[in-house]
Amino acid sequence: TNEFAFADDPFDKMPKLKARLLANENPLGISQSAKEAIMKSAELGNRYAWMEFSQIKALIAPDEGVKPENIMMSPGSSDILMAAAEYFAKDGGTILTSAITYDDLLQRAQKFGAKIKAIPMTKDYKYDLPAIKAAITPDVKLVYIVNPNNPTGTIVPTAELEAFCKEIAPKVPVFIDEAYIDFYEPAERPKLGKLVADGQNVILARTFSKIHGFAGLRLGYAIAQPEMLKTLRGYTNGEFAVSITTLMAGIASYKDVAWQNHCRAENAKARAYTTKALADMGYEVIPSAANFILFPIRMKTKTFEGQMFGQGIGIQTREFNGQPFCRVSVGTMDEMAIFIDGFKKVVG
Ligand code: PLP
Repeated sequence: TNEFAFADDPFDKMPKLKARLLANENPLGISQSAKEAIMKSAELGNRYAWMEFSQIKALIAPDEGVKPENIMMSPGSSDILMAAAEYFAKDGGTILTSAITYDDLLQRAQKFGAKIKAIPMTKDYKYDLPAIKAAITPDVKLVYIVNPNNPTGTIVPTAELEAFCKEIAPKVPVFIDEAYIDFYEPAERPKLGKLVADGQNVILARTFSKIHGFAGLRLGYAIAQPEMLKTLRGYTNGEFAVSITTLMAGIASYKDVAWQNHCRAENAKARAYTTKALADMGYEVIPSAANFILFPIRMKTKTFEGQMFGQGIGIQTREFNGQPFCRVSVGTMDEMAIFIDGFKKVVG
């Protein structure tokens, strides 16, 4: 038997994979500047981080068009998602979102007593904002949108999203999970911070896990109204959960625009290669704006997963409306060649 086949917990096998394409990580690692900052931070390990919080917020705030008090740091964006889930679910009610999307916040909210109403996506796997708007009822406590969305990789047109927030946020808070926002070309990136600056009840969640490669280091932040951040903070372990090492590395990486541009360009190249190779084999890939792609497969998810893991290729699968899909993270060009090779062996 093959040790990868039908792994109960595929994450246990990750270190041994030839191509680790299941967690939307940055395959290029962290920047040299971040590594150097980590070495420097060793000297400060005995000190509580203090000014590093103001330093990183002072860097982020002007880029987003907000004030430092509109920003709260966290160990990855998951903490922000979990805090929001608990806070908005605690008195019952409904969280409104779309299917299929990232469900960490939704599952947690359900645990704390909320119902989830997931509106079907459009035919091209995008959030259907008019349908979401039409589904708002008095029991809706939060609207949760992931843009770019995981696992579809699709984006909502910026003007549409902005108009939606302006109309809805005065009635119901809108939470936009922007974990993959850095994969937009900088000029095209939505700038929803300006809605927060205008006083709108919009919460943006960001992470360093993706373009900065900090999935293991853990750094994220929320952008929202100061009172909302204060409320959410009460459902977290507080900003001090972020280490001085991570903060110093984050400051260095944030300033290292050349590294971010490099990661974005390499991602786009490997994503285009994979999309074309699959299209050439007759597979219809959902156009992705992120560091993963989703496409329908023609075999059962478990069988497919087992055969890919059997070759040391880690991917994820989804089943949606009875249709099985493969979600593959964008790795290096070498990893994507391994993926395509392995995929050809599986599908014959
Ligand atoms: N939001 C989305 C849409 C994600 O895909 C992920 C992780 O993959 C996260 C949030 C959480 O990431 P992290 O806690 O590493 O910031």
